[in-house]
Amino acid sequence: MAATQRCYYEILGVEKTSNGEEIKRAYRRLAMKWHPDRNPDNPQAEVEFKACAEAYEVLGDDEKRRLYDQHGHAGLRGNPHHDFRSMHVEEIFSMFNDIFGGGMGGGRRGAPARGFDLETEVEIGLVDVLNGCKREVGFARAEVCGTCSGDGAKPGSKPVSCPTCQGRGQVQQTGLGGMFRMVTACPNCGGGGKVVTDKCVACRGNGRVRVNRKIEVAIPAGIQDGQVVRVQGEGEPPRREAGPGGARGDLHVVVRVAQDDRFERNDDDLVMPVAIGFAQAALGGSVEVESLDGPVTIEVKPGSQHGDVVRVQDRGLPNLRSKRRGELVAMLMIHVPRKLNERQKQLLQEYAKTEKVDVRKSHEGGFWQKMKDLKDSLTGH
Ligand SMILES: [Zn+2]
Ligand SMILES: [Zn+2]
Repeated sequence: MAATQRCYYEILGVEKTSNGEEIKRAYRRLAMKWHPDRNPDNPQAEVEFKACAEAYEVLGDDEKRRLYDQHGHAGLRGNPHHDFRSMHVEEIFSMFNDIFGGGMGGGRRGAPARGFDLETEVEIGLVDVLNGCKREVGFARAEVCGTCSGDGAKPGSKPVSCPTCQGRGQVQQTGLGGMFRMVTACPNCGGGGKVVTDKCVACRGNGRVRVNRKIEVAIPAGIQDGQVVRVQGEGEPPRREAGPGGARGDLHVVVRVAQDDRFERNDDDLVMPVAIGFAQAALGGSVEVESLDGPVTIEVKPGSQHGDVVRVQDRGLPNLRSKRRGELVAMLMIHVPRKLNERQKQLLQEYAKTEKVDVRKSHEGGFWQKMKDLKDSLTGH
């Protein structure tokens, strides 16, 4: 097939490093965006919709993706591929059944089809991760048109039997000079067997209207950035063509955890800098710090060094599954005063006479190991 030469990663708006789940999500979002039903006035939508399907067929398949990464479009020549541009939109949906959370009347026959899944995003803070929270999320979804009860026909009129398929909803195509026959959804009626001649004004014959909806979503404590809360039955209703008995799709709420100025999250641990005086570091003592949920006293050992870490158990974030809390990791930052008063200066000068630091032993504080530990702890190794 003469593939369009647009980059598949660009079409889906993903990175070369994106994983399968991210690619799937990007495709689902774009397929919803460009679905011709949702863009009745934009002929370009169907072109985009099909370009996305083509890109997803490749990037969603490990083997094809590898070939594409190595050799570009040329790497896919001779590889089985669908010509999406000649396919009906509904056929594409039934092909990627699993992604859209249900069928379009295609797929397993007889099984009631589900409506589409929808996706939305919500941002929460670390305190919400600690306690769990409820958030109101707003999203638009297609609903069955109330004016025509979803059949798309002007009240008083009725849809008529489709002339292309004589109301069967399917057409036969023959290929290779009659060598095989293929039954596909009728391109004229989309498989429903009926067409509307006198269109409902409220939905322009679509049978559906876009409705803004708000619901409250419970977000469990311990959730990680990018994880999805699935709300069953808050997606779109199944298509009429799929017959009665189908369930609504689901709503996928992608949770984003906002950066916090005070803490760095490291799985279930919270890392925070704690400034102490150098006398305090040398002598040791207790320091009160403000954790995510109230003050915590940390014990500074005598002789603590800059960058040393004090761990406080059970003051981090809860684990999503076990709900056991991680640690608060206080990283000591030794503060050297920029200005000294006379008394301090005297005391320090007195002290300095007793102090001996051998500059040749700079590495003995474990500097390089500390750098490595720090890096590892922040990248979670
Ligand atoms: Zn209507
Ligand atoms: Zn038809």
